[in-house]
Amino acid sequence: MKKYILLVCLFTAFSFAQNKIDLSYYLPQSSSYNQSIPTPENIVGHQVGEWHITHDKLAQYMYALAASSDRVTIENRGSTFEGRPLLLLTISSPENHQRIDAIREAHINATESNSSSVSGRPIVVYQGFSIHGNEPSGANAGLLAAYHLVASESNDVKELLDNTVILFDPSFNPDGLQRFAYWANTNKSINLNPDPNDREYREVWPGGRTNHYWFDMNRDWLPVQLPESRARIKSFHRWLPNILTDHHEMGTNATFFFQPGIPSRTHPLTPKLNQELTKGIAQYHAKALDKIGSLYYTEESFDDFYYGKGSTFPDINGGIGILFEQASARGHIQESANGILTFPFAIRNQLTAALSTLEAAKNMREEILTYQHNFFKNARSEASKQANKAIVFGDEKDAARTYHLAEILKRHKIKFHEINQDFTSNGKRYKKGYSYIVPKNQKNTRLVNAMFEKRTKFKDSLFYDVSAWTFPLAFNLDYSENVTTSNAGAEVTDLEHQEGSVSGMSNYAYLLEWHEYYTPKILNKILSKNLKAKVAMRQFTMNGKQYDYGTILIPVQNQKLNAQDLYNFLTKHAKESYVQIDAVSTGLTLGIDLGSNNFRALKKPKIAILVGDGVRSYDAGEIWHLFDTRYNIKVTKLDTRSFGRTNLDRYNTIIMPSSSGLDENQTKKIKRWIQDGGTLIAYRSTLNWLKKSELAKIEFKKVEQTAKNISFEDRGDFRGAQFIGGAIFGADLDRSHPINFGYKNNKIALFRNSTLFMKPDTNSYNNPIKYTKDPILSGYISKPNLDSLSLTVPLQIKGLGRGTVVAFTDNTNFRAFWYGTNKLLMNAIFFREEL
Ligand SMILES: [Zn+2]
Repeated sequence: MKKYILLVCLFTAFSFAQNKIDLSYYLPQSSSYNQSIPTPENIVGHQVGEWHITHDKLAQYMYALAASSDRVTIENRGSTFEGRPLLLLTISSPENHQRIDAIREAHINATESNSSSVSGRPIVVYQGFSIHGNEPSGANAGLLAAYHLVASESNDVKELLDNTVILFDPSFNPDGLQRFAYWANTNKSINLNPDPNDREYREVWPGGRTNHYWFDMNRDWLPVQLPESRARIKSFHRWLPNILTDHHEMGTNATFFFQPGIPSRTHPLTPKLNQELTKGIAQYHAKALDKIGSLYYTEESFDDFYYGKGSTFPDINGGIGILFEQASARGHIQESANGILTFPFAIRNQLTAALSTLEAAKNMREEILTYQHNFFKNARSEASKQANKAIVFGDEKDAARTYHLAEILKRHKIKFHEINQDFTSNGKRYKKGYSYIVPKNQKNTRLVNAMFEKRTKFKDSLFYDVSAWTFPLAFNLDYSENVTTSNAGAEVTDLEHQEGSVSGMSNYAYLLEWHEYYTPKILNKILSKNLKAKVAMRQFTMNGKQYDYGTILIPVQNQKLNAQDLYNFLTKHAKESYVQIDAVSTGLTLGIDLGSNNFRALKKPKIAILVGDGVRSYDAGEIWHLFDTRYNIKVTKLDTRSFGRTNLDRYNTIIMPSSSGLDENQTKKIKRWIQDGGTLIAYRSTLNWLKKSELAKIEFKKVEQTAKNISFEDRGDFRGAQFIGGAIFGADLDRSHPINFGYKNNKIALFRNSTLFMKPDTNSYNNPIKYTKDPILSGYISKPNLDSLSLTVPLQIKGLGRGTVVAFTDNTNFRAFWYGTNKLLMNAIFFREEL
C-alpha cells in the first residue's frame, strides 16, 4: 500500500516536474499584473525553478525591475570577495518613495524619543535570502516576490506598499549562490532524475554553503568580519527594521519550518514579547501554507540564542528575526520521505512565507511599531540607572587588537570614547590610544550587554550553535565592566589605527616588540626580502625600556639593503603593519646583549595548508582568510586529492585544520617530511589521527558518560548536553615559551568546541598552556566535561626526527573574530625551530 502511494506521488510529481511551469503555479491567483514590468523569465531567459538562478542573472533582473517601476529603487552597497555586487532593493509605494528620507527619520526618531505616534508610519521589513548559497530556494523565490510586489495591480499589494517599506536583499551570499548554481545546473539532466545518488545532489568540497573564504556567514551578524555582513549591518542600523526574515533550507526529508523555535532556547536578554509577536506572525505563515497544502512545523527545533545569526540578531536590536527552513531539493528534483520534492515546490513555499510575512507586517503594524518603540524606551530606562557606569577595554601593548574590537562597536553604532588619561583598574593598566571606554547609558545598551557579558548559567543545556561569544575574551583584551564615565575623554567619531613608525635611522640595529597584532605581517615581509632577523628568547632592558620575550632584532650590518634602504623599507612596512620599531645604537643591554646566542635567527616560513575532502572547510577557510587578508602571507592550499603527488620539500610548515587525517601512504609521506625537519601544525580532530598513526605521543582523558534515569524520549537531549557547542575557557601561560611570545598576561581565554581532553606532559616545561582548575569563563559545558577539562592542556609540541609536531585541541582562528589567539598559530610558524 505504502509502495502504491509512493508510486502515485512519484508519477504526479514527475509528470509535473517535466512539464513547463508557469507563473500561475507560484503567484497568488487574485492578482493581475502590470504588463510593462518584466517577469523574471523575460530577463533571465528561463522560468524560475527551471534552472538554478546564477547571481549575475539575478542581479540583471533586479536592475531591470528597478528601472521599470517607481515602486522600487536599487543600490549596490559593495562587493563580495569575488567582486559580485551586494544589492539592496527598497520596495514601497511611489508616494512613500517620494518621502523615503522623512519616513526613515521618523522611524529612527521613534526609537530615540519617549513619545511617538504609529499613525501614518510604515512598518519596515528586511527580507533576505539564501545566506547559505546551497540553500537556493530562497534566492530563487526572491525573483518572484520582487516581481509580485512591483508588478501586482491588486489592491492588497497597493495597500501593503502604502503601509510598508521593504528592504529587499535578494542574495545574502552571492559567491556561494553562484558556486552552487554552477554545480546544480552543470549536473542537470534533461530527464530530471530524483535519485539522491545522482551527482547533481552530491556537491564537491567545499560546497556552496559558504562565502569565498568558506565562512558560514550566518554566524557573522555580530562579529561583522566579512564584506557581505558589513554592507548588510550598515543597512540594518540605518533602518532598524521591525521584522527581518532569513530564508534557509534544511534536510531533504523535512517539511517547512518557521519560527518560533524551541522556547527554552531563547536568549534571556530577548524580551518575552518578541517571541509572542513571532507567534502572532506565525499564524499568517500557517494560514498561507494551509492554503497551498504544504506541511510545516514550529517550536521543535532551531533556537534564538546566539545573536550572531540573522534570525536572532534583530531580537537584541528592537526587531523581530524570523527563520524559515525549507526541505531542500538540493538540485532540481529529489526523492524524499514526503514523496518527490521539486525545486519549484521549495521555491513556492519560500515565496508563500515571504508574502505571509508581509501580510502579517501590514496587519500587525501598530503592535510591532509600538513594540520597537517600547524596546528602546525600556532600554533607555535600564541604561539611565547606570548613568555613570562604563566598560573599559584595551591592551597597553597592542593597539591594533584594541582597534579591531572598537571597529565592531562602531559598525553596530555603539558609542565609545578615548580615555582621558592612563589609569589602572583591577590591576590592569589602560593606556591612552590603546584603550576605549563604553558608557552603559546609551541607545544600544542591550547590545553592549549581549557583547560583553559572561554567562555560565543556562535554562537549557542544548545549543544550536555557540553558547558564548564574550568579545573582550575573544580578543584577549584587558577589560573591566565597572569603571566610571569620569575616565571618558572625547567620543571616538573617526576610528583610526595607531600609526606605525620607526623611531629613527640606525647604523646598528632595530628592535620590534612582538605584542602588536600585525607583527607577523611585517616579520614575513622582512624575511621574504631575505633580510636577517632574530628573536629574543629572554627579556631585557635598554634605554630604560623593558623588552619582552619575542622581541625581534633586525641588525643593520651585513644585510641585503644598505642602512638607508633598510630604514626606508622598515618605515614603509611599519606603517602598513601599524607597529613601532625602535632604532638603537648599541648592543649593550641590561640582560641579554644584542649579540647574545639568546637571539635566535629566523627563517622565512614556506606554508602549505591541507584542504579538500576530509578537511573541515570552515576551519581551513578561517586559516586561509587569516593569512591572505590580515597578514598578506602566501599559503599554498594543498588538496588532499593531489597530496600523494606533491613534492613537500617546497614547504617547511604544513597546517592540517580539523580533519580525519591522511591515508596510510600519505601518512608515511608526511612522516618522512617531518623527520627531515618539517613542522606539522595540527588542529582538533586531526589529533586523533596523529595519535593513531604515532606521529605524536599524545594522551587523551577518557570521559565515561553513562545514562542514568534518562528515558528514551530524553536520550537526544542527554547526548546533546555532552557536546561543547562553543564556550570560552581560561588557561595559564608560561610566557617564556616561544609559543606564547607576544602575550603580556599570564592568562589567556581560549575558544573550544571539541571534547578532546589532552593530558599534560609529565615535564611541566612542556606544558606552556594549561587549563586552570576551574576553567569555564563563559558559556555552557556539562559538569562531567568540565571536570575532565580541568588541568588538561590545549597544546602539545612533540619532536619527530629533526622536525616538530604542534597539536592544538582548540580552534585558535574561530570565525575570523577570535583575534586573541591568532598569535599562537603565528608563533608556531615563525618560531618553529625554537619550540
Ligand atoms: Zn541555512
